[in-house]
Amino acid sequence: MIKTKEYVKRRKQLMKIVGEQSITLLSSRPELIRNGDVLHYYRQDSDFYYLTGFNEPDAVLVLIPSLTGQQQILFCREADPKKMLWDGPMLGTQRAVDECGFDAAYDIKEIDRRLPLLIQGCEKICFKIGENDEFDQRLSQWVKTIETRKGQKSNIPDEFMSISHVLHDMRLYKSNAEIKCMKKAADIAAGAHIRMMQNCRPEQFEYELQAHYAYHLTANQSHSSYPPIIGSGENNNTLHYINNNQQMRSGDLVLIDAGAEYDFYASDITRTFPVNGRFTARQKDLYAVVLQAQMDAIEQVKVGNHWNEFHDAAVKTISQGLLDLKILKGTLEQVLEEKTYAAFYMHMTGHWLGLDVHDVGDYRVDDLWVELEENMVLTVEPGIYISEHSNAPKVWRGMGVRIEDDIQVKIKGPVVLSNKAPKTIDEIEHTMKG
Ligand code: MG
Ligand code: MG
Repeated sequence: MIKTKEYVKRRKQLMKIVGEQSITLLSSRPELIRNGDVLHYYRQDSDFYYLTGFNEPDAVLVLIPSLTGQQQILFCREADPKKMLWDGPMLGTQRAVDECGFDAAYDIKEIDRRLPLLIQGCEKICFKIGENDEFDQRLSQWVKTIETRKGQKSNIPDEFMSISHVLHDMRLYKSNAEIKCMKKAADIAAGAHIRMMQNCRPEQFEYELQAHYAYHLTANQSHSSYPPIIGSGENNNTLHYINNNQQMRSGDLVLIDAGAEYDFYASDITRTFPVNGRFTARQKDLYAVVLQAQMDAIEQVKVGNHWNEFHDAAVKTISQGLLDLKILKGTLEQVLEEKTYAAFYMHMTGHWLGLDVHDVGDYRVDDLWVELEENMVLTVEPGIYISEHSNAPKVWRGMGVRIEDDIQVKIKGPVVLSNKAPKTIDEIEHTMKG
């Protein structure tokens, strides 16, 4: 759980970066209709949540880093007993001040009257330019209101600045409290993977494993951080397979990419295991290559290394493994030079992880891969995918393996947040024996 004082600190840090004479405006995510009268479960915009800890629609955050007066203001829905009767609790303006650390909070219905007065006199408006058309239009309306009111343009901010990059750079470095949430999200997902391993039987359908996953998450006050991928046999080779509706056969592998979200923070874990609980000799050989590639990559997740280095380590080990297993021909140099490994390993080895499963943050700056720093969190997820339609030797076709963990960058070395999910061949077979 992130404490209120941390949200206040983040807002202050942002104001310090954007500078005085500015006003920062951020809108909550609108509610989304699923179909008919039914709404999707509400989930706040990650940037908005990062600065507020406030999970309701119809809200606008206002930050004014002036030396005097109110700096941190929230416009939100007023707690309305009649509406709450239908929709459940709303925080309301008073509790927003008391519990979320705002200097002031106003009814969102008053925003057209109050906000132009707050904007007036600021030189710069900072917001997420172009991300919400309706908000952009309303903002130009608020600015126009100042124009008509004053009849002179000098009161209008003359600079618009996109806040996204500043905010996303802040989100890249996780605090201790954020790491705790992410560890919890990883532990819950690991528990779900263990439950799926223990309950997997030949002839079951993939969705029966999904039911175990859903149960474990819900029972731990969590939910999916993305739609889970539960693919057996040839489905292992469809990277974004989410139908999860095929019968699982003894002798096949099942690949499960399934994470949890806890207190808005995501985990993202992949494990691949045999449907019947025992790896065949060939499955062991392929699995061992991916596992070695993952361990070699994790070793390169260290402060001062660049983003590409752990990917390159994985590619090298996978390429050598594909040669050793005679899935590819040639020398290691040729395979790397001609990128023939890409027929079986076609994605990058990781991504940032945080409030979003594919979290914000640069991967390259000025054509250079970014340098890893303390308390960044990323995934390491190499794989080998040998489709039925590939030109690999027949005995290998129809197998796919990916292993994915969540790694915290630390000066003392990488910390595997998802370490509770069984990973070695022995650990997996032991877990499945129950
Ligand atoms: Mg994943
Ligand atoms: Mg991932």
